[in-house]
Amino acid sequence: MELETYRNFIGGQWTNGTAKAVFEVMNPATEEVIASVPNATSDDVRAAIDAAAAVQAKWADSLAAERATILRDAARLMRERAEHLAHTMTLEEGKPLAEARGEVNYAASFFDWFAEEAPRVYGDTIPSSSRDKRIVVLKQPVGITAAITPWNFPAAMITRKLGPALAAGCTMIVKPSELTPLSALEIARILEEVGLPQGVLSVVCGTEAKDLVKVIMDDFRVRKVSFTGSTEVGKILMRQAADTMKRVSLELGGHAPFIVFDDADLESAIQQAVLCKMRGMGETCVSANRFYVQRSVYDTFARQLAERMGQLSVGNGLQAGHAVGPLIERAGLAKVERHVADAVAKGAKVLVGGRRVGETGYFFEPTVLTDVDHSMLIAQEETFGPVAAVIPFDTEEEVIQQANSTPYGLASYFFTRDVSRVFRLAEKLEYGIIGANDGMPSTAQAPFGGIKSSGLGREGSMYGIQEYLDIKYLSLGGI
Ligand code: ADP
Repeated sequence: MELETYRNFIGGQWTNGTAKAVFEVMNPATEEVIASVPNATSDDVRAAIDAAAAVQAKWADSLAAERATILRDAARLMRERAEHLAHTMTLEEGKPLAEARGEVNYAASFFDWFAEEAPRVYGDTIPSSSRDKRIVVLKQPVGITAAITPWNFPAAMITRKLGPALAAGCTMIVKPSELTPLSALEIARILEEVGLPQGVLSVVCGTEAKDLVKVIMDDFRVRKVSFTGSTEVGKILMRQAADTMKRVSLELGGHAPFIVFDDADLESAIQQAVLCKMRGMGETCVSANRFYVQRSVYDTFARQLAERMGQLSVGNGLQAGHAVGPLIERAGLAKVERHVADAVAKGAKVLVGGRRVGETGYFFEPTVLTDVDHSMLIAQEETFGPVAAVIPFDTEEEVIQQANSTPYGLASYFFTRDVSRVFRLAEKLEYGIIGANDGMPSTAQAPFGGIKSSGLGREGSMYGIQEYLDIKYLSLGGI
């Protein structure tokens, strides 16, 4: 296969910048190198910030309708180019082509949504306490922003940040995961083609994440950073943001509970369980990680889940018919193996799966473990893999307590037909996202984000754009 050579996109130029070397992008299904990208340096990040600084004021002054047109055109072009984008994504990330196509659509939906939000950045007028004054609230773009994104949604995690930033009138420097730079660069190409002014967007890829991001964090001109990734790195960035008092949005780790009550529509719960667990091979921050099932339906649920999981075909996502691709890297595979081994050593049973598939590529069998308890690693940490750990429970109070017993608070799910229980759980579960009889709640028009150690801020929805706006209060006297 021919190796593709990419360049970084800095200040409107496709360039090697000051890179002294390239880094290689690998296909996790074959462990083959598929492309190379210049390994950006700190100077390249500085150049991107300089370019943004040169155009920020002009971009902020553009009409909302002009910015909306660019976003709308970009969404359209993403859809037109969906096959190419999906293919690129599957090559670098591994997810099956059908899922990659789904992600391209999902990613484009953020451009569509924020194209609509751009002209709806309303201010307020507030009744004054003196007759000769008026109070006016203005909303203005925060200025230069940066996005630091992970590999699990190589396109959507970028558009979910870039869409509102551009809509609000902010420039943005994107530092994508070094494991999936190609989708990011393809998105930059699309924005260039639809006429985004030079300098408004830069995409800087490199393996020295810590150094590259430090330049962003230390630069006072960058007023906001939006990060999706691990809680560990999120905490570092929050500390680093203090010195320049940047705004931060942090979408961090999760450890989602998936609760099935005995009055649930079991068929639907099982169907949603498979989707929720297996999307992105279980490598998403909203993937169900702990399945709590009420004792009277425990055996039936576990058996039927194992049956469905066992039917999923594992293999190279570019080949038709595979529903499950490889994990992203060897370390991810090792973590899944460690969680399974630890659970089995402590008494869990493997109903289906449990092993690596093949010698090449980072494939792991869809796995269901029963007799899981809270002493096991898998009940304590995010697994980021295709393993469903099923834990029995007896009462609603007990399961709420168990579901909340982690530092994380991103997504949670429960299945019941009892309407009052829906409200009780929605209010008591300490999570930013709650799927009641729904295993796939993420969508552009809803606020996505966590509480507790899962982060700060919301993305998507009418709330998402507020993260890119400053509130300014105008007190108008002498009236
Ligand atoms: P994940 O591996 O789940 O994507 P990470 O938090 O490791 O989570 O990575 C998310 C993003 O953060 C990536 O773009 C990565 O390059 C970047 N990153 C990783 N480590 C650091 C760090 N120490 N400082 C800044 N950015 C980092």
